[in-house]
Amino acid sequence: MRRISRRGLLAAGSVALASGAPQAGGESHRRPILICAANGYAYLEPAYEALKNGEDTLDAALRVVQGPENDPKDDSVGLGGLPNEEGVVELDACCMHGPTRGAGSVGGVQNIKNVSLVAKAVMNHTGHVMLVGEGAQRFALAMGFPKENLLTEHSRKIWMLWREMHSNQDWWGPGVGMPGWTPPEQAPAERRSGIERRLGRWNDVAADLGIEPEMRMDAIRKVLVPPTGTIHCSAANEKGEVSGVTTTSGLAWKIPGRVGDSPIIGAGCYTDPEVGSAGATGSGEENIKVAGAHTIIENMRHGMSPEEAGMDALKRIVRFHGNNMDEIRYIGMTYYVLRKDGAYAGVSMWGGTAERPKRFAVHDGTRRLEVCKALYQGDGIEWPPIPRLKNP
Ligand code: ASP
Repeated sequence: MRRISRRGLLAAGSVALASGAPQAGGESHRRPILICAANGYAYLEPAYEALKNGEDTLDAALRVVQGPENDPKDDSVGLGGLPNEEGVVELDACCMHGPTRGAGSVGGVQNIKNVSLVAKAVMNHTGHVMLVGEGAQRFALAMGFPKENLLTEHSRKIWMLWREMHSNQDWWGPGVGMPGWTPPEQAPAERRSGIERRLGRWNDVAADLGIEPEMRMDAIRKVLVPPTGTIHCSAANEKGEVSGVTTTSGLAWKIPGRVGDSPIIGAGCYTDPEVGSAGATGSGEENIKVAGAHTIIENMRHGMSPEEAGMDALKRIVRFHGNNMDEIRYIGMTYYVLRKDGAYAGVSMWGGTAERPKRFAVHDGTRRLEVCKALYQGDGIEWPPIPRLKNP
């Protein structure tokens, strides 16, 4: 039998104390609940049914994240994820299983789409916690995961657009004298010539690459502001068991081999059976530096509510940047926080616009999207202002 230390009793006590108060992001209660990034909304219903019928908390959370992993249209996770700078999709994932205190993780995996399940396999079938790169792929193949090309035509075209838009600095894009060619020394002048002209030219390149008209501005935005994406899902059941999982294709156009926060236990995801589960999407490098998910769990262990715990982690990132808004506006971060008693919160560095507020998804009997509690109002990166983007 596991011995409970005095420290453990004190910690458990502080959680019990905290669980009495209603939370900004939801009442404390003991019923099945799933909380995830908004891109998991469509997959919550069957996962909730399974959880309610007694499915393990990690398996229910895995059901949710496999949705975006399998969806070729979600270009932030799994199949169809935006690739690294060489056009290769590299995936990261990790999971923690509260009841067994198990953890598994994979980083930089190519050609295997369900890396969340590979992370679970690492947890269940090895004595390790983390496998990366080629070794992780070989392990996945040995476990029977199919090998497939993860770069969809949609993502390939956006990657090509990204390459061509660096044409003043490399050999991609039009050759000397070809339409659209500008000598490198004219680049600063072009920068001064205004957004409209540049958008017009990029729109032409996107058209040449066969990107559909309605997708062009989205593609251009992804090139200008390399997107983050990712899905995290945490689950709790009536018994107070908790688990969490995070999976991603990471930052678009990353240097091959770059691994973000998503597969880092304690950053992209952390679960403590005595406290709860938390996970992150957003600027991975920033989140690693504050061990975001672990920080949040420790905050709750010491009595903070889910919302307070998440906001405190966001403020820690801000402090790491000396409160300098010129830096912070480039940092997007959302935390999904679930206490073992069912109290929860979604908190975000930037709240988004009135038309497009930053949201997260919940299912506790009712499936819904809720607006994140934001540290700052508005969109993080001010250029280009997304609502004003129109096809030129
Ligand atoms: N956190 C992920 C990473 O840095 C990206 C994301 O959440 O969108 O790889």
